[in-house]
Amino acid sequence: MSTSLSTTLLPTAIVGSLPKPSWLAEPETLWAPWALEGERLDEGRHDALHLAAAEQTLAGLDVISDGEQTRQHFVTTFIEHLSGVDFERRETVRIRDRYDASVPTVVGPVRRERPVFVEDAKRLRALTDKPIKWALPGPMTMIDTLYDAHYGSREELAREFAAILNQEARELEAAGVDVIQFDEPAFNVFFDDVRAWGVEVLERAAEGLRAETVVHICYGYGIKANTDWKATLGEEWRQYEEVFPLLQASSIDTVSLESRGSRVPLELVGLLRGKKVMLGAIDVADSRVETPEEVADTLRSALEFVDAENLCPSTNCGMAPLPRTVAQGKMRALTAGAALLREELAEG
Ligand SMILES: [Zn+2]
Repeated sequence: MSTSLSTTLLPTAIVGSLPKPSWLAEPETLWAPWALEGERLDEGRHDALHLAAAEQTLAGLDVISDGEQTRQHFVTTFIEHLSGVDFERRETVRIRDRYDASVPTVVGPVRRERPVFVEDAKRLRALTDKPIKWALPGPMTMIDTLYDAHYGSREELAREFAAILNQEARELEAAGVDVIQFDEPAFNVFFDDVRAWGVEVLERAAEGLRAETVVHICYGYGIKANTDWKATLGEEWRQYEEVFPLLQASSIDTVSLESRGSRVPLELVGLLRGKKVMLGAIDVADSRVETPEEVADTLRSALEFVDAENLCPSTNCGMAPLPRTVAQGKMRALTAGAALLREELAEG
């Protein structure tokens, strides 16, 4: 197992997406269509990847991500590269039990016809000497973003996706990716499935990897469907209580969760004892930039439930819908807050 997130105390990393430049896609819009086409789009995506790496480096982050600059959607872009899914045949399904969306249909056996992100990962690898992290959708979140007209079993389709994700993850690792993250917001909703097969299928996706593995579970982007859902969750958000004990006993190295500005009781972090914790100390649903002191406060409070050497300061979720200057400010606040706490810990 690699120790990418352990080389520094309190290594900082963003969870996933960054805003795209306005010449590449409509700003402050989630899943915005591309503003370029053909070769210009390829060039634009690669340029944006450079900028995302540069912005993270300037902000002083310890682990560099692609900022999801080359994908439109964190799940769909991956599925677009698979056979067995018909994007012309759309059905309306309820996503994470929360909002209706028109999604593509699984019409036959799903297969990965070619690598999806491996060339982009090689590009990112060439841009930095720091550890790099790549995010993939988790199997359960993938099946939740599709209509299945072939398998007739959520579990069976998830197992097929896990095998495909494992192929991709192994190639990303070979391309020099140090940390591979699976985004599983569906783990916060379908507790019976998580218990019955979800964690096991996730482990299958991560099987045999030397790269460090992360599972990211959040309450979503700051979009209306999510904020409306959050309003129904009551004073304390205890969803993690269902899943964390299962993940604590799993082979996944790190759990990424949200904290800042959310109603997640911090003591739930204690259920992960022994695992690394990527703690969201930046609220992505609020465009006000946190102060370094606020970031340090969030991180410090977590130290009651996670050992400092296992704490990785991070954001709650992706920052794609935020203005670019805000996302840049939040990255700087994250690294400055982590630095404050590092100093405190060094002073003992
Ligand atoms: Zn998220």
